[in-house]
Amino acid sequence: MLALRKSQPGIGGLSLDEIASPAQPGPGQVLVRVLNAGICGTDLHIYRWGPFAHRMKLPTVLGHEMCGVVEAVGEGVSRVAPGMRVSVESHVPCGHCYTCHRGWAHVCPNTRYPGVDFDGGFAARTILPETILWPVPESIPTPVAAMMEPFGIAVHASLEGSGVSGQTVVVAGCGPIGLMNIAAARALGALRVIATDVNPLRLKMALTMGADRAIDVAEQDPLPVVRDLTHGRGADVVIEYSGHAKSLAGAAALTTNGGEIRLLGVPEGETALDLEAWLIKGLTVRNLHGRRLFSTWESATALLAEGKVDIAPLVSHVLPLNEAMIGFDACLTGKAVKVLFDAGA
Ligand SMILES: [Zn+2]
Ligand SMILES: [Zn+2]
Repeated sequence: MLALRKSQPGIGGLSLDEIASPAQPGPGQVLVRVLNAGICGTDLHIYRWGPFAHRMKLPTVLGHEMCGVVEAVGEGVSRVAPGMRVSVESHVPCGHCYTCHRGWAHVCPNTRYPGVDFDGGFAARTILPETILWPVPESIPTPVAAMMEPFGIAVHASLEGSGVSGQTVVVAGCGPIGLMNIAAARALGALRVIATDVNPLRLKMALTMGADRAIDVAEQDPLPVVRDLTHGRGADVVIEYSGHAKSLAGAAALTTNGGEIRLLGVPEGETALDLEAWLIKGLTVRNLHGRRLFSTWESATALLAEGKVDIAPLVSHVLPLNEAMIGFDACLTGKAVKVLFDAGA
């Protein structure tokens, strides 16, 4: 079968290889035929050979966002059966450490990831642990089910702390997850959603997903706009996806006294912050990673299955795997929103 692998360290280093189809799944494992798999920021990070990628043993099949059909199950598997359509949680927590026992498995220090620590979903078939498979209800289309993992991050960010209901929310950074967060915040009762980015394509999409305002921060300072829309008070919640130093430095000014900043975007290197404003304003800062296992999946599934949120418009490209590099180029040059591979094509 054809597989997209990271085969060489350094920038790029991807290869489309003909490899053997995975064999029968072992105990607790499931053989999944991949239907759609999406390119994620983590895949771009691996492409650029950022620090998180250095743990990889090469070659490894990339891809951790996917929807597929169960083809075969190994010994002891009871949660799924052949023929079931599944989405995939990308964190494989150990399940038996202090963090897992405290109910924080999404930040387990022993987490392993498909597409990083073992072969992932940019291939026709993959073998995954049963514990990370999420059966998908019929009402959720396959391309949408392939985006449930990133959508879960947006739902997680919307539900933590004070949530979003009745509040003014700034979504800083309109990559796919920021865009999903706009729709999730709307569905979960945000009073107002203000989006910021520098990419015109993404800003347009922010309005499609339900933002009240989309501010191009390359052209316009967001602070007076946010103040104007909030009677001078500032936003109740700022959800930071961009990871850019300027956006991080400006987050406190956008937030009302006593409000919340939720950090999700990963900054490159160290970031200088003037924490005095964060302190004096009494802001709550939350660092969010992944999805709560599996309460976030329950909420995300309900939102999608009941039609409260539609993330299908985010799919900008559906490509066969042999055109994978077109998809990576589109992402790397900011011309894509969400790229999905159609492994069957
Ligand atoms: Zn991802
Ligand atoms: Zn653990």
